[in-house]
Amino acid sequence: MFSNKEEFKEQFRLRLIGRLGIPLAEARADDVYKILGSMIREYVGKNWARTNQAYKERGEKQVYYFSLEFLMGRLLGNNLLNLGVLNMVREGLSELGWGLEAIEAQESDAGLGNGGLGRLAACFMDSLASLGYAGHGCGIRYKYGLFEQRIVDGNQVELPDYWLQKGNVWEVRRPEKKVEVFFWGRVESREENGRLIFETKDAEKIWAVPYDIPLIGYRRGNVNTLRIWSAESGLDLAAGHFSGGEGYYKYLEYSRSIESISEFLYPDDSNEEGKRLRLKQQYFLCSAGLQSILRTYDKQQLSYDHLPDKIAIHINDTHPTLVIPELMRILIDVKGMGWDEAWDITSRTVAYTNHTILSEALEKWPVPMVRELLPRVYMIIEEINKRFCAMLLERYPGDERRMSEMAIIYGDQIRMANLAIVGSYSVNGVAALHTEILKQREMRPFHELFPDRFNNKTNGITHRRWLMHANPELAELYKETLGEAWVHDPRGLTGLLQYTGNSSFQQRVQDIKQNNKRRLAGYILSRQGISVDPLSIFDVQVKRLHGYKRQLLNIMHIMHLYNELKENSARDMTPRTFIFGAKAAPGYYLAKQIIKLINNVADTVNHDPQARDRIKVVFLENYSVSLAELIIPAADVSEQISTAGKEASGTGNMKFMMNGALTIGTMDGANVEMHEMVGDRDMFIFGLRAEQVLEYYRTGGYSARRKSEEDERLRRLLGQMIQTGPFTSHEWEFEAVYRSLIDHNDEYFVLEDFAAYVDTQAQIDQIYRDPSDWTGRAIANMAHAGKFASDCTIRQYADDIWQIRPLDEDISSRKVY
Ligand SMILES: *Cc1c(COP(=O)(O)O)cnc(C)c1O
Repeated sequence: MFSNKEEFKEQFRLRLIGRLGIPLAEARADDVYKILGSMIREYVGKNWARTNQAYKERGEKQVYYFSLEFLMGRLLGNNLLNLGVLNMVREGLSELGWGLEAIEAQESDAGLGNGGLGRLAACFMDSLASLGYAGHGCGIRYKYGLFEQRIVDGNQVELPDYWLQKGNVWEVRRPEKKVEVFFWGRVESREENGRLIFETKDAEKIWAVPYDIPLIGYRRGNVNTLRIWSAESGLDLAAGHFSGGEGYYKYLEYSRSIESISEFLYPDDSNEEGKRLRLKQQYFLCSAGLQSILRTYDKQQLSYDHLPDKIAIHINDTHPTLVIPELMRILIDVKGMGWDEAWDITSRTVAYTNHTILSEALEKWPVPMVRELLPRVYMIIEEINKRFCAMLLERYPGDERRMSEMAIIYGDQIRMANLAIVGSYSVNGVAALHTEILKQREMRPFHELFPDRFNNKTNGITHRRWLMHANPELAELYKETLGEAWVHDPRGLTGLLQYTGNSSFQQRVQDIKQNNKRRLAGYILSRQGISVDPLSIFDVQVKRLHGYKRQLLNIMHIMHLYNELKENSARDMTPRTFIFGAKAAPGYYLAKQIIKLINNVADTVNHDPQARDRIKVVFLENYSVSLAELIIPAADVSEQISTAGKEASGTGNMKFMMNGALTIGTMDGANVEMHEMVGDRDMFIFGLRAEQVLEYYRTGGYSARRKSEEDERLRRLLGQMIQTGPFTSHEWEFEAVYRSLIDHNDEYFVLEDFAAYVDTQAQIDQIYRDPSDWTGRAIANMAHAGKFASDCTIRQYADDIWQIRPLDEDISSRKVY
């Protein structure tokens, strides 16, 4: 590794010439990116090997985080940051004539996730490595990540995200570590020495090939692994099956069908239907990941009784729940263990995080589909269910309602959450409120049966990406003010509380915010041709588009402001730029209508001379991690306005807080804990509380129609959705939106919360006028954001769930052979 700028420049120049055979002057940004990336990747190779060696020698417990999603974003900038060479490389490149930002922009986002759940996995990987824990990721190497969104005539259009097109400098293909995964076939049983032996015959066999990506800890040398699996066919697997002239084409077809398993990420956030390919993906990950873990374990020549002391398998939501029956299968069928022993080991190894209580998002798989695709795994699930139900019967004799609620298999469906709870030793929710709702309502009977299994781990975000990398100026100011301790323990940010009223500190904070806003304004102008005023309030809602997240409430408020301006052009109003970014699931019609509505409103407002100097509306295309890093540091107001009780935690809320935006939000998810930290003054809370929402659902006492008739503003807005007017191009354009509110009784209480939301926004309008008051509140938010750093979250997982300790040796002094 280079130890100073001159060394870096020299090594970089040599590599460039060696690799590309062209002089520096002829290199393109893309070349520079690739050379720099591969150089960094190779440099960490040594520490990667050292880390694995240290973990092996130490023989302590390791964690494997299984997730169908890892929303990593770009890696170059964060890797340079974590290696401690960011500034050196920036300066070196600059002397060679390149800006680091332009080089970073060459990297495609690794968009292997939909939203919060996938991004959480990525933040956790960064914290695990940076705190020195032996914790690795296990995922799928989708050929296509989350679709790329374009807006055409106001509508969302999806394009494939072929993120690997230019290659991936960070990954290492490890064909020698491939494993076989089996689908279909039929189970045969026979007796051998008084034991039933199960064998699956005529199964389809495919290869799972791993690609490893280094996860570099912040300034501590150790490097963990994100292992992502790719599905491949192989002549060796198909030999003999496809002969003759037709056979060749059949073989190609067969190959394609196999490779389709890791072809694309399902672009749906919360409503996966029973799709067989998705089930295949889930099992593929579980089986491949487990096999590779157990192969490593076998090398230690330990008995399997010790598995739970050496390995924890964490499942990110129910998507990888099949690790439970798959581990049972391996222990029983391959390792020759009895049921009880295998069950004891399995259920002490797996831990489960629940991410949602939206009923449409609770995974269920049709029995016939699982039985056909995974016959042996299905038998095991059936047996788990049988034994669990027998236990229930004994414990709650005659309580059939409880049985039907808790059974794993019910009415031809397998309930994955029930399987996950029964087969794991820890079940956690992701924010205090969410965990309470799980315990008291959604999973109440399970909590009664296994009270000790349930615990809360409030989500977090890595301050390295979301503060130090995304907002370097602010991080620099913190260092000047507080020293560097907060970098290693972000709770130290509370030191900023002393400065909330300090006018020179406030001025610095304002200047930095202004710079970030100008940077975003430049992007908006160049990408979307809309000019926005960096002195206006930047009011931002960026997240997946979903009914419960209530982008509709936000846009209706904007429509209302516009109506008011049209009625009274002298209306007093602090200029505001409303910024949206959101992808809708391709099949989610209502969500797509809301995108169209936002774009129609933007079009009208931005072009109306009576409105455009006070309101601007921008819908930013293709919201992604990289875009989030540009948008969030520029936000004044953070919109976290989900229907109370619906957002399990939210992590966007934390990113904004850390970057000094003030939140307008409901008492939902982690907002509740943010509010607990900063109090009423520094956060704008409005709307129904979770209990009230649940009460409404229970009693059916809410009438959206009545609500809309009571409030003249709502009547007007509803009319404007379906009549020709400023926001529509034809009658009934937003019929689906209208009907969701009126005919379907406004499931998410948009109309109910409208008045409170408008009032709270008016308060924000007033308070923003006093820059010192506003900035003082912003600083209080930054000061309390340390609690939401994922380092804190991961320490809690490590202590309470996984029982692992960080590595305390300096890796870099090890000899590697
Ligand atoms: C943080 C993040 C999310 C999650 O945002 P929420 O507001 O918590 O829903 C989604 N997408 C991206 C790209 C993110 O960075």
